[in-house]
Amino acid sequence: MQRISSENVIYKFTNDLKEVAKVKQNEEFIVETNDCFYQQITNSNQVLDEINHDNLNPATGPIYIEGAEKGDLLKVKIKKIDVSNKGCSLAIPGFGVLGGKVKNPATKIIEVKDEYAYFTEDIKIPIKPMIGVIGVATHKEDGEWTTDTPYRHGGNMDTAEIVEGSTLYFPVAVEGAMLALGDLHAVMGDGEVSGTGLEIPGEVTLEVEVIKNKSFNWPILETESEVMVLASEENINEANEQALEGIMTIMEKSLGLSWEDALILSSLAVDMRISQLVDPKITIRAAISKEILSMERVLENL
Ligand code: CA
Ligand code: ZN
Repeated sequence: MQRISSENVIYKFTNDLKEVAKVKQNEEFIVETNDCFYQQITNSNQVLDEINHDNLNPATGPIYIEGAEKGDLLKVKIKKIDVSNKGCSLAIPGFGVLGGKVKNPATKIIEVKDEYAYFTEDIKIPIKPMIGVIGVATHKEDGEWTTDTPYRHGGNMDTAEIVEGSTLYFPVAVEGAMLALGDLHAVMGDGEVSGTGLEIPGEVTLEVEVIKNKSFNWPILETESEVMVLASEENINEANEQALEGIMTIMEKSLGLSWEDALILSSLAVDMRISQLVDPKITIRAAISKEILSMERVLENL
């Protein structure tokens, strides 16, 4: 199985990325990832000021997907996420939801063992490994974005449901799509309120497929039971509106509903969930059960 080393990283999603590896459709491959601090934080006496800020949010790649062209949809199946046995989590003055109230910077080194993260000996959290940063080359008109910012190309969406067993669909902007990913979290709550998940290195097993001549203006996430639109905008209201309009557009096309009926159905059956409140753009996901809207139907009508 092809293994893509975590030495190959990007810090920006642009329209002209150069690949470090090529993969075929339906071929499983492994991507090794650094943690979002490039493993610079190793003990609890360290604070963020001491580390090199040029090495934040490395994403391994870019990976050229054979057969992907502009105007297609890239399907990315997350087959497996393995995280290391130790990660870190921080409270950073001026950062996160209550950043203004953080008086003392604090760093916690957290051990991961037997599917639990040991916050203390008594407080243990069942892990739910997820991918923080995952995306493809940007469309020219969307400009370029550092890997800390989520947008239409994906990026730092910090969404707790991007887990093993989930599938992402990205709009392809360039030949080869140019997939890159990193910033794994052993666990993270919706919102990522302090600005960090349980930041940890690891590796991800993926399989990709190209869906020809289908597109959408935001990444779509499919979990075992739901379909979601992941929208990222400057503030929470805009992100909410974009995520809702996104899922409504899909409902109109796939279920043959008027805009107003899509709004009413959304009010009954769509959950608006906060992915993260702390990155340069806020990410909100609008989720609907696959019992109401199947992924097959979504793809047929994109
Ligand atoms: Ca992140
Ligand atoms: Zn992270």
